[in-house]
Amino acid sequence: MTQVEANPRSESGLVPGEGTMRVGVMTGPGAIEIREVPIPQPGVNEVLVRLRATAICTWEQRSYSGQQENKFPFVGGHEMAGEVVEVGPGVSSQIAVGQTVTIGSAACGQCHWCRTGRDRACPQHYSGSVSYGDAWGPGGFAEYKVHPASGIYPIPGAASWEAISLAEPLSCAIHATRLLEIGVADDAVVIGAGVMGLMNVIALKKRGARVIVSEIDADRLTKARQLGADVTIDAASEDPVARVRELTEGRGAEHVIAAIGSGRANEQAMAMLSERGRFVLFASAHPMTPLEIDPNHMHNHETGVFGTLSSEQADFEVAARLIGLGQVDLSPLIQQSFSLTELGVALDASIAPGTYRMIVKP
Ligand SMILES: [Zn+2]
Ligand SMILES: [Zn+2]
Repeated sequence: MTQVEANPRSESGLVPGEGTMRVGVMTGPGAIEIREVPIPQPGVNEVLVRLRATAICTWEQRSYSGQQENKFPFVGGHEMAGEVVEVGPGVSSQIAVGQTVTIGSAACGQCHWCRTGRDRACPQHYSGSVSYGDAWGPGGFAEYKVHPASGIYPIPGAASWEAISLAEPLSCAIHATRLLEIGVADDAVVIGAGVMGLMNVIALKKRGARVIVSEIDADRLTKARQLGADVTIDAASEDPVARVRELTEGRGAEHVIAAIGSGRANEQAMAMLSERGRFVLFASAHPMTPLEIDPNHMHNHETGVFGTLSSEQADFEVAARLIGLGQVDLSPLIQQSFSLTELGVALDASIAPGTYRMIVKP
């Protein structure tokens, strides 16, 4: 391209306001287009990141397969790793050009939810969303992304771009297990050992729980043990509720996380709770089955159920440290990497059953 000669590049390879980048756009289920758009510029309190790895999550998978409705054209990719190439006015000196970062939850710092330490509910939580012409989305399937500085998390130490891109899903498990208030040696059950279930296994182990995993797929149970699960239950051949009661002298589990959206999993979770047990609805369900609750039973046993969604700044900070400082090994969850131009191939691969995270390297 003659453009490169006409505009000599700075050290970061960027001339402000000049140049274009490639963006992977989902124009409908099963349809990907690589578009060329101007490289965005960071405004006040914003940061420009050169993206190096973006993992494909269930939102992108379900949008691509048509299982979940979405607004198209869509620029997916919300699990991102990259390097800071430009900072806008007002950004604190904590964030500097050249830093390795992950991208995540933004927060205004001034609303009721931010000031009370619950920034997932901040109106600016998803403010990092991009729009390129008629295309919108979290924007990870692109070479660059502008993001609010409040949602930029520097990675201490060193880790692979692939591992760093998994800070977002890890932070969601850090979030759920934080809200559960896990005690050392508490019994915690994870139902469903897909990538998100396994992230919860990792988070629960870091918090000191005895981790029990219930799943019907033998390969996933093996993976769960590899990632530290203490006991695995093959739900295809054993009754998970009876087995959890047996493992806990009849008490049941103090914590249960359903990492799959399934009416049957929810019923099992409710039935395996101990006195004061807490059940987390971690996954969304498509289609959704209503959850039946016996209020008297819940009252008499002081049990509870709540949902978790996404994560907060505190959770991202923890995930960034765990990954950067090598306190967790996420490599068993990483399946294969693709270039941005292979986005369609990567998405096809990601929706094949029994796979782990596919990574796009823009
Ligand atoms: Zn995700
Ligand atoms: Zn706020």
